[in-house]
Amino acid sequence: MLHPQATEISFKLNNGVSVPALGLGTASPADRFSETKEAVKAAIKAGYRHIDTAWCYGTEPYIGEALKELFQEGEIKRSDVFITTKVWPVYWDKVSKSLDESLERLGIDYVDMFLHHWPLCYAKVEDLVNGISDLARNPVDSMGNPVYDPKGDWLKTYMDMERIYLDPSDNRVRAIGVSNYPIEYLQKVLDTCKVKPVVNQIEMHPRLPQLELNKFCHDHDILLTAYSPLGSNGAPNIKLTLVQELAKKYSTSANDILISYHIRKGNLVIPRSLNPARIATNVGFVFLTKEDLEALDSVGKTDPYRYIDEDFAAVVPGFAGRDKVVG
Ligand code: NDP
Repeated sequence: MLHPQATEISFKLNNGVSVPALGLGTASPADRFSETKEAVKAAIKAGYRHIDTAWCYGTEPYIGEALKELFQEGEIKRSDVFITTKVWPVYWDKVSKSLDESLERLGIDYVDMFLHHWPLCYAKVEDLVNGISDLARNPVDSMGNPVYDPKGDWLKTYMDMERIYLDPSDNRVRAIGVSNYPIEYLQKVLDTCKVKPVVNQIEMHPRLPQLELNKFCHDHDILLTAYSPLGSNGAPNIKLTLVQELAKKYSTSANDILISYHIRKGNLVIPRSLNPARIATNVGFVFLTKEDLEALDSVGKTDPYRYIDEDFAAVVPGFAGRDKVVG
């Protein structure tokens, strides 16, 4: 039986909006921001119809340039592509402004999915050199410790997103969701808010299978989006022994195994690459068996690792801070 390519598979969000399972991640390294434009164009030409970005990545303007050219060239129209952006914790109380800035940089008038990037609230500290909208992305004190806003309330951010989504005269977002939310925070949203998040975007791969969070989200009709599926910079997960063995078994690439792992579980996945040749070939879908999936899950039981665990995240349950191993 011929399998579809990963780019041909879509899921339905809990509000009825359809989303392509495979998206292109765009958290490019700062010295390579401008390459994001060609990466997005290569991805669309390879069949991707889902781009993941964020206010804080610095890549929105380059995605905007790519989209403008793709629209002008007639390659795609706006409604053919699913765009996700996110509100960063320095703008925890400036949700509408964050969204407007993202839309302007992207050169579009709505996003398909708008996510709360992290459930925490940073202080606003001016940084005219490296800041985003002149604010430090990750404010730290003289000791290097993160500076949070003492008046901050992460739930307010989600409630402001909800207000935008529910306002019938406001068409800037088609769906709202969250990112880096542990179960207890999701439960608080479910207990307090009117709109259920459509997704929770989290780090997820064989070394961090997030089985409990998967069960909770799927029980509540919330999809997961797997970020850093390859293990982030340098794609270390490609070298995992089991991933290599499965690639051999299915005569495919390790990349395809790591991506299909999520799609076979009914989740979204957003690998990043700036390499057009890789982007074009990173689309194979493997019909992994239940046993394959269970074996991949068990890698995280014996050899757990969270690659994205920066100090600022340690205030969120489940995160420990830089270079700490979390099972
Ligand atoms: P990934 O796990 O996607 O890995 C990216 C790295 O893998 C790059 O170094 C890339 O290099 C390399 N790579 C890609 N394909 C291959 C391949 N076939 N063979 C070998 N190497 C390969 O990392 P990210 O951390 O970027 O996660 C993906 C996306 O998730 C982000 O870009 C962002 O959109 C999102 N994200 C969201 C977060 C959140 O808090 N919500 C946090 C982190 C990420 P090259 O470019 O040379 O191909």
